[in-house]
Amino acid sequence: MEGHRAWIELNLEHLRHNVAVLQALLPPGCRLMPVVKANAYGHGAIPIARALSSLGIQSFCVATAEEGADLRRHHIPGDILILGFTPPEELSLVRRYDLIQTVVDRDYAGQLNRLGTPIRVHVAIDTGMHRLGERWENLENICAIFSMEHLRVEGMFTHLCADDRDNPQDRAFTAAQAKAFDLVVQQLRDRGICSPKIHLLGSYGLLNYPFLGGDYARVGMALYGILSTAEDTRRWGAQLRPVLSLHARLSTVRTLHPGEHAGYGLDFTARREMQVAALTIGYADGLPRALSSGVGSVLIHGKRAPILGRICMDQTLVDITGIPEARAGDTAVILGTSGGETISACDIAGQAGTIANEILSRLGPRLDRLPVPSKTPCLALAR
Ligand SMILES: *Cc1c(COP(=O)(O)O)cnc(C)c1O
Repeated sequence: MEGHRAWIELNLEHLRHNVAVLQALLPPGCRLMPVVKANAYGHGAIPIARALSSLGIQSFCVATAEEGADLRRHHIPGDILILGFTPPEELSLVRRYDLIQTVVDRDYAGQLNRLGTPIRVHVAIDTGMHRLGERWENLENICAIFSMEHLRVEGMFTHLCADDRDNPQDRAFTAAQAKAFDLVVQQLRDRGICSPKIHLLGSYGLLNYPFLGGDYARVGMALYGILSTAEDTRRWGAQLRPVLSLHARLSTVRTLHPGEHAGYGLDFTARREMQVAALTIGYADGLPRALSSGVGSVLIHGKRAPILGRICMDQTLVDITGIPEARAGDTAVILGTSGGETISACDIAGQAGTIANEILSRLGPRLDRLPVPSKTPCLALAR
């Protein structure tokens, strides 16, 4: 199966496997609420949400109202929670598409309430990240949110921000976050306010602190089969399988003579006769420009071809001197496996000085997203 220019292949069998692995880790009574924000971390929100729906998933998280609306326009059923701030002008989308808005603090709750029509919400509690949420110490404000006439409070959550490292300081901080959240739950209960659903675990939370419980786990990265770094993936994600691979074509193959340059600028000079190929993918597609000049490589016929010169917006040059069988029209694996070699999103992240989350979520809209034919009947239908 091949796309036209540059494309993503989605292995939905691996997605099904990851769902099963993560469901086995869930604490009692907890369900997966997959995070499909940022186009499902670059994978393609619609094919991923469709596949998850067919696997029985009934609730999703997105970052923006528009992302939620797009799922609905593609007939994704179930609960859709917007984790981020929705500007007041866009709140009509929340109601029109039956989405659930996060309450980012008491003032915002007041704005939602003043719209004068019922709106479904989850209340965010700030337990130390200081990004979104009413401060856990402000119980009066939290109670005020719960008592607002037009808010249908269906849940309450917090976000752990130091759950990925296994050291005493981060462990203590995470424990304090969980304790503060629990205190809010208890105090509301003491006042006769019962929050329908609570949640605090993301991928790292589920892997490292499953005992913290909750009604949902808001899992993103782990569902896509990798964690933020190669070390974490080896350590905690060994049973997970990457869902995404990234491919492009060799558009031209040519010989460079000693002393000739290649690409923008005169950075690269051939020291000997060599073979060079142009690939149909560039930094506008999400291939980090930091991989230029041999920092990164791609796989062609199971062999590594180092990136040569500066990555361009739409194209990339690679050194194929060691791959004499390479021809124009062949496929290059940018991210994934070819023969016995693999390049993971974590490898690219390491070379680019970032985390795999950024590499995946920046994969661009020009890439086709192609579900690989699946043997599981419900997934085959989901396509
Ligand atoms: C993005 C996000 C998640 C998912 O995080 P992963 O590490 O990808 O599992 C969970 N909760 C919130 C609030 C988020 O913004």
